[in-house]
Amino acid sequence: MDFSENQQRQAFRRELREWLKANRVDSPPRNDLDQWHRAFVEWHKKLYSGGWMGISWPTEVGGRGLPDDFEAVFNEELGASETMPAPAIGYLGRPMLTHGSPDQQSRFLPRLLSGEEQWCQGFSEPDAGSDLAGLRTRADLRGDTYVVNGQKVWTSFAQYADWCLLLARSDRDAPKHKGISAFVVEMKSPGISVRPLVQITGDTEFSEVFFDDVEIPASQMIGDPGAGWAIAMTTVEFERGPADIGFTSRLANTLSRFEARVRSGEVELDQVGRRRLAEAFVSLEALRVRVQLSLLARASSGAGATPGPAGSVDKLLLTRAEQELCRTVLDLSEAGAVLEPDDQMFEYLYSRAQSIYGGTSQIQRSIIAQRILGLPRS
Ligand SMILES: Cc1cc2nc3c(=O)[nH]c(=O)nc-3n(C[C@H](O)[C@H](O)[C@H](O)COP(=O)(O)OP(=O)(O)OC[C@H]3O[C@@H](n4cnc5c(N)ncnc54)[C@H](O)[C@@H]3O)c2cc1C
Repeated sequence: MDFSENQQRQAFRRELREWLKANRVDSPPRNDLDQWHRAFVEWHKKLYSGGWMGISWPTEVGGRGLPDDFEAVFNEELGASETMPAPAIGYLGRPMLTHGSPDQQSRFLPRLLSGEEQWCQGFSEPDAGSDLAGLRTRADLRGDTYVVNGQKVWTSFAQYADWCLLLARSDRDAPKHKGISAFVVEMKSPGISVRPLVQITGDTEFSEVFFDDVEIPASQMIGDPGAGWAIAMTTVEFERGPADIGFTSRLANTLSRFEARVRSGEVELDQVGRRRLAEAFVSLEALRVRVQLSLLARASSGAGATPGPAGSVDKLLLTRAEQELCRTVLDLSEAGAVLEPDDQMFEYLYSRAQSIYGGTSQIQRSIIAQRILGLPRS
């Protein structure tokens, strides 16, 4: 595979590098989630004003219409500049780009892209995580309104969201995968309550969300009634992409911060330590190359291509790279750092979630076994 860059990509990289030099921002610590989230939204808006959000999204909805592989360049340069990571909106917006009506796309996508409106993902329920099709939140049609009752859980950033991409059962008589529909619902609708949950990291990234007779205009259904499963699959395929969720930039950042501490002599490494750091670096490089390959493949499949089941390979490589890197950085740091609730500890604890969200590693392996390798279901 030829990774040399054409002139358009080189120019894009140069322009971005210059922009980042003048505009990069430091991440505030995660110990105050409200403050961190405010800074993150500001960063999102700044990236948008600079023309760096929705690089591969169509120009009609405010994107730049560039090939998907430019997203890899964006992530690499963000990581190299040690700025805040990229906002993860691809997996929320792509389902509407693929399945939404032109009216929905023009109403919702430009504001999602610009950061003016924040979204969350209301898929998982207490008894429907890996078995997502088992979800029980109901959406009953009354006139031209759907009335929603039920509960979601692990809804990231629900407390800050203006809109939720919601899955609910709209036909209780249909087979379980076929009775689900997808909606966008306004989070300040009467009947929605959000109860934040404390994670092992100490912050409240995710919440329980309760729906009690919440009314959604039928025009806010994405796609047809019963199309929710296909929309859910589009969402999770994008959610598994390390570049789509901004993780390649985040991990490159973690590595370069640690390297700087080693170079300055703050952290001393023996031969075993150097070897472990080299292994973490190699996992990250393998991920970076894989991301490039995946995005190049998507770019050559044409506009609107989705990652497909191959995205599960990216997700497993991401999980390995992230968990190995964060574990290594923590192990090789001064012992005292382990006792402090600092960013490094936060990143280590957060890395444990990588093998769970967007579908657990066991589920990714099953997808690879059945849908890529064609192994029989047991
Ligand atoms: C940090 C974080 C953020 C999240 N954000 C969101 C969000 O914004 N929106 C949202 O909707 N959800 C979100 N989630 C939820 C996430 O998608 C689910 O946690 C995940 O799908 C697993 O579901 P579960 O927790 O119900 O575990 P379960 O499905 O109960 O799984 C428990 C264990 O059993 C294993 N298992 C289950 N079924 C199988 C099987 N068929 N084969 C092999 N092993 C199996 C799993 O791999 C896992 O180890 C988030 C989760 C985390 C950790």
